[in-house]
Order: sequence, then C-alpha cells, then structure tokens
Amino acid sequence: MKRRLLDLSPIELERALAERGAPGYRARQVWSWVIDRRAERFESMTDLPRALREELNESFEIFSTEIVARSVDDDGTTKLLLACRDGETIETVLMAEEHRRTVCVSTQVGCGMGCVFCASGLKGVVRNLTRGEILEQIVRERNQLPEGERVSHLVVMGMGESLANLDELLAALEVVCAPAPLGLGLSQRRVTISTVGLPDKMRKLAELDRRYHLAVSLHAATESLRDRLVPISHKVGLGAVIEASDRYFERTGRQVTFEYVLLGGVNDRADDARALADLMSRRSAHVNLIPYNPVAGLEFERPSEDAVNRFTAILRGRSVSVTVRKTKGRVIDAACGQLRRGTAAVESTLL
Ligand code: SAH
Repeated sequence: MKRRLLDLSPIELERALAERGAPGYRARQVWSWVIDRRAERFESMTDLPRALREELNESFEIFSTEIVARSVDDDGTTKLLLACRDGETIETVLMAEEHRRTVCVSTQVGCGMGCVFCASGLKGVVRNLTRGEILEQIVRERNQLPEGERVSHLVVMGMGESLANLDELLAALEVVCAPAPLGLGLSQRRVTISTVGLPDKMRKLAELDRRYHLAVSLHAATESLRDRLVPISHKVGLGAVIEASDRYFERTGRQVTFEYVLLGGVNDRADDARALADLMSRRSAHVNLIPYNPVAGLEFERPSEDAVNRFTAILRGRSVSVTVRKTKGRVIDAACGQLRRGTAAVESTLL
C-alpha cells in the first residue's frame, strides 16, 4: 500500500528520499509543491527528475481521500465530503467572508462525546483521523480557492472531539502554522481549537509553548443541566472544566471562549443567562452564543430571536463579553453540529 505523504513530517520525508539516493533538498521541494504550490500529482513537479517522480508515485500518495461530493451554499460556504481509504467519510467546510477564508476541519470519524443535540455523535466514534487526514482537509479546501487566495483562519470545529485526538491534531497544526513554502503560514492566533472540555488535555495544551485560541463548549452553567446536555460532563465535572480553562488563560495569555448552544426552552431562559453571567464574572473570558441548528431526528428547537436577544442583553448587562455566532451553510447542512457520518446526502450531490 502506498504511504500517505502528509502523514510524514518533512524530516521523515527527507529520510525516505535519502533511502532512494535523493539529496535532502528534494524533500523540501516535494513538500512545498504540495503545501505551497497546490500540486496534486507528482507528475506536475516539473523541477524533479522524471525517474524520482515516478518512484515517488509508486511509493506515496499525495492525497489519501477522494472528494465524493461538493456542496455550495448561497452564502458561499462550501462543504466537501471526503472518502477515506477505509471507506469512512468525513466532512470539511470552507467559509468566506470579506477577506477571511476560514476552514473548519474534522478530527475524528464520528464522535464519542454524545452531546444530545449534535449530529456528529449520533453513531458514536469510529476512529481518529491521522495528522495527514487532518492536514489534507485544509489543503484540499485551499486548492479549491482561486489562485492567490489563502486560508486565513482555521477552526477545529468539525466532526469529532479535537482533544481526544490531540497528538495528531498538533502534528497537523505544526504544518498549518509553519511559514511558507513548507507550511500554510497561519499564525497560531488564527487557529481555534474547540473542545467539549477535557480538563487533562486542556492542561496539556496549556503547557505547550503555543498560542492557539481555545474554545470550550459549555452549553450550561449548572452541573445538573450540563450533565444532561453533555454526558461526558458527568465524568469530568463542570468545575474541572472551568479550572482548566482558567489555567489555559494563565499559561498562554489567551482569553478562552466559552461556546453556548442556545436550545429553545432548554437552556435559553433568563435564569440560565444569569447563571452563566455568575460563572463568567470575575474571569477574563468571552461567550459565543450559537443558536441551535436543527438536526433531523432530534427534537431540539432553535430559540426565538427574542430569546437570543434577551439572553445576550442579560450577559451584557453584567459586563460579560458576548457575541452571537452567525449561521453559515445551513442549506447544505454544513452549519455547527450538522456534520455527520453516513452518505445519505451524497447521492443527490455526487460529483
Ligand atoms: N467536539 C468539539 C467540536 C464540536 S463542533 C466541541 O465539542 O467543542 C463546535 C460547536 O458546535 C460545539 O460547541 C458544539 O457543541 C456545537 N454544536 C453541536 N451541535 C450543534 C447544533 N446542532 N447547533 C449548533 N451548535 C451545535
């Protein structure tokens, strides 16, 4: 079986090429062709000897996924459905807004956290994605952009629990944040890692010398309500999540964002807002409210505009920094929480 090129680090690639008698700079050439110059085939790497290109083609594959469907929303959001070698599918989204080009990547096939309102976890987790499969999503989305346009932001908010696959994610991010031509040149500050709140992994991330933006999916400000909505919370406890978030801020100097999906009639009442304000007061944090995006088969409802405004006003009244997330890609089921396993949607959009 061919090796997945993007699973190698540039140093490993150098070693693999040295075994074939190629000098070290060839590895950098190959890598920058893919990462910087959008090559999708070894054949197009015209400054490499033909024999080496052929050898590479026999041993490696640049992409290990196939694009099986591409959907475009009226708002410009694009969703790619990628089939992995083992037949599992993952989804990745590109959002365009003014000068921003934001890619949203998945880190797992499915998700094991079981948040009761989210489509990604409906069938549990199948496996972690490799560093190459994570990186490949971003490179593939970038290759869809017009020549000269770059990915400016990355959000790790697709399918899967990001921190449950931390090592592979970190390896992919090293390439994302390395300067061109060997990396995609994103600043660490423009990378947001969203987590359900796994305190041990959050602490580990805090100890690295990195400046990633951390977003923690809170969704409830009381222990009992959070246990109901985010089952994993039962194991870790709300207090430990908050403590690990505070630690992240202390160690990195980066303000943590707390995500809060607003579910009509469930966690969007005035009392809920007040409890959240209590939790947020005295800490330097930001709240990002996400009006619920409906998921077929689940009976949660998007809150009314009035409820969203009331919730926001209560937080603002208590001097909590708060924004409401704009919904993007809803028509093509690419909005938050709508990415899922399975191919039901594929048939209609097959390329
Ligand atoms: N596992 C990570 C990434 C999940 S996706 C995490 O839990 O943070 C990013 C955000 O979308 C999370 O806050 C998630 O809870 C939220 N989300 C899930 N389903 C949603 C839905 N149907 N509507 C709106 N937001 C949703």
